[in-house]
Amino acid sequence: MKSLLSVPLSELESRLALLGQPRFRAKQIQKWLFTPGVTQFEQMTNLPKPLREALSQEFTLRTMHVAAILGTETDPAEKFLLELEDGNRIEAVILHNEQGQHSLCASTQIGCAMRCAFCASGLDGVVRNLTSGEILEQFLFAADVLASRGQRLSHAVIMGMGEPTANLDALLDALSTVTSENGLGIGARKITISTVGIPAGIQRLAELDHPYHLAISLHAPNDELRTRIMPSNCGTGVSAILRAADNYFEKTGRRVTYEYILLSGINDAPENAKELAGRLRGRNALVNLIPYNPVDELPFRTPSREKVQQFAQILESYGIQIALRHRKGEKINAACGQLRRSRKDS
Ligand code: SF4
Repeated sequence: MKSLLSVPLSELESRLALLGQPRFRAKQIQKWLFTPGVTQFEQMTNLPKPLREALSQEFTLRTMHVAAILGTETDPAEKFLLELEDGNRIEAVILHNEQGQHSLCASTQIGCAMRCAFCASGLDGVVRNLTSGEILEQFLFAADVLASRGQRLSHAVIMGMGEPTANLDALLDALSTVTSENGLGIGARKITISTVGIPAGIQRLAELDHPYHLAISLHAPNDELRTRIMPSNCGTGVSAILRAADNYFEKTGRRVTYEYILLSGINDAPENAKELAGRLRGRNALVNLIPYNPVDELPFRTPSREKVQQFAQILESYGIQIALRHRKGEKINAACGQLRRSRKDS
């Protein structure tokens, strides 16, 4: 059955006309489509029963199903392994913060071609891009889960499996519905797109009318180290990424966040902190320090608490704004791609 999410309004109106229905029914249906918790046609109570039955013969409201869940609503993060229609699986994480806000961490690809050395998602490369409907459905899924508890999805980070700028058309298409008042109504300012730093992609994001918040996964202050842990750096380089980020800031006035995963003995030395501070000094930037979430098959380890504090203090002593992100996902295999790999054969 066809997903109703992928049917444009005009096509829906034509289909309804064939069923002898007035045009306004299409708007009614669209409204229901983005009402969290509405996953079946019979819940669309202002539609005539025969119409609901006819629609349910032809269309489906959800195409994904949950293959595994790790964590509960009392944990800071809940991870969902979602199975798509073609049997591929992706991860989506719902994050809860102390202020009672709930965010989705969404995926944009099945696997990832960037092959960052510390990441489980990149281990097998990329299978395919997600469609805009599959990206959008992750938002609806999270909104449904939260609605069932009387909670609301308010924020999102595009930081799950995949490199967002490698599937930007589909992502922006999905986000246009997510941010629309006729969709989920989540403001662009509450959505962060995280990228390894593809300058052309950053440029495109800078030119949007309503720019999303930009986060760049930097993870190293120089090309030698960055290329070692992030092969995609080869041919781009830290300087070009920082230039693209500066341009984004100039165009949008929005502060850029730099993500820095701390890997024990790799990029967590005081010299790394000083070099990073030197590169970012003078920029309106926030550095998000993230102690590494270990992945079984990978050799990287989490630095000690003291090492993390030392790194943070050095950055602060140079006037760099930092946020020390807690490892919300440790208990639930939340490092990107871990759950999918661990359930690969099941
Ligand atoms: S960290 Fe992000 S960009 Fe790097 S391999 Fe993993 S999913 Fe891809």
